[in-house]
Amino acid sequence: MSVGGPRRELWPAALVYDGLGTPRRDAAVLVQVAPEPARVVVVGRASELRAAYPAATERPPVVVIAPAPVNAHTHLDLSDLPLTKGSYGAFVRAVIAHARAGGRGLAAAERGIRALKAAGVATVGDIVTDEAVLARLLEDRELSGVAYWEVLGPDPADAEARFAEAVAVVERHRPRERPGGVRLGLSPHTPHTVSAPLLQRLAGYAAAHRLPLQIHVAEDPGELELHARGTGSLREAMGPFLAAFRPSGATPVRYLDDLGVLAARPTLVHAIHVDDDDVRRLQRAGCAVVHCPRSNALLECGTFPWARYARFGVTVGLGTDSLGSSPSLSPVDEFGAARAVHGASADPAQLVWAAVKGGHRALGGAAPRVVRGGEAALLRSWPEPAPWPPAVGAGTVGDVPSAPA
Ligand SMILES: [Zn+2]
Repeated sequence: MSVGGPRRELWPAALVYDGLGTPRRDAAVLVQVAPEPARVVVVGRASELRAAYPAATERPPVVVIAPAPVNAHTHLDLSDLPLTKGSYGAFVRAVIAHARAGGRGLAAAERGIRALKAAGVATVGDIVTDEAVLARLLEDRELSGVAYWEVLGPDPADAEARFAEAVAVVERHRPRERPGGVRLGLSPHTPHTVSAPLLQRLAGYAAAHRLPLQIHVAEDPGELELHARGTGSLREAMGPFLAAFRPSGATPVRYLDDLGVLAARPTLVHAIHVDDDDVRRLQRAGCAVVHCPRSNALLECGTFPWARYARFGVTVGLGTDSLGSSPSLSPVDEFGAARAVHGASADPAQLVWAAVKGGHRALGGAAPRVVRGGEAALLRSWPEPAPWPPAVGAGTVGDVPSAPA
């Protein structure tokens, strides 16, 4: 090789994902680093590339080289909510009190956006409750993904009024969408905090106007009893707010299917308490699911049935949920937690796939594919995930600050 000619580096990792197929184990990326910009020459087995390109300078190995991971579900405007450990019911009460005290809004979302970008996230699914935050996200030049306007309305008598309000928000903000930027979506909160007629109106409107949907479902174990019999811990935790709720007798996922809501292909968030029939229904409908393992653990919601979803071939993405129930907004940390939570029942290569491609699909977008000659900057060396569960003593979970001061 002549001086000043092309210079090559070998980037090895335990898992390499270029956006095609599934992530490869013990692989490496051969990168032409000069002349700039750095470009991918080939991706392959580390041992074979080492033998074939002995002149390439080798970087120290890392755990994952892949496109930037996606945070497919968060609530940026809850970035000032202190991390709340305990039951889901207690968490919901904390969120309501925090919102009433004025803690939810643009200033909190700005801190969340900074934390998100600092974690290397460029694609996000955010649940939005403030129009200033909606405008802010739709106009952000560095982010893509979906800003989902959240809709609540458990009383069927209010369905038309709540629907008209949501449509007005969509019509006000849709002109802010830009190609490649954040898209506008809708998030009917849950199948119990949004009445059946409102769920149907929102789903029909979203399908007709090509708006992505995200719905929290089957997060707390009490949701099953609430839908089956109208009783249980969730009914007690939410009190009069659910006065108008009438149980269908079905599981929450089947209820959404029976209402026709799954036909609008909502992305379902959490979806922990599901049986085979539920998973088959959402797989047939083409729904993706977002898995938030750290929030699920801290709010005592149970363990996501990773193997069941894998068996049915459902697309799963990773999300952090808000800083109120997660120590960071980093999907790499979520990936680390998922590895710890699922152990041998989840293939780490599939978890990388979930954090990248699964997240993009859950938000209705496409993951970058880094083909030969593609820009190497699209491939990132993921940092070491934060330990999970966090070490007790060296700042227990309850002591983790919710946002930088
Ligand atoms: Zn959430």
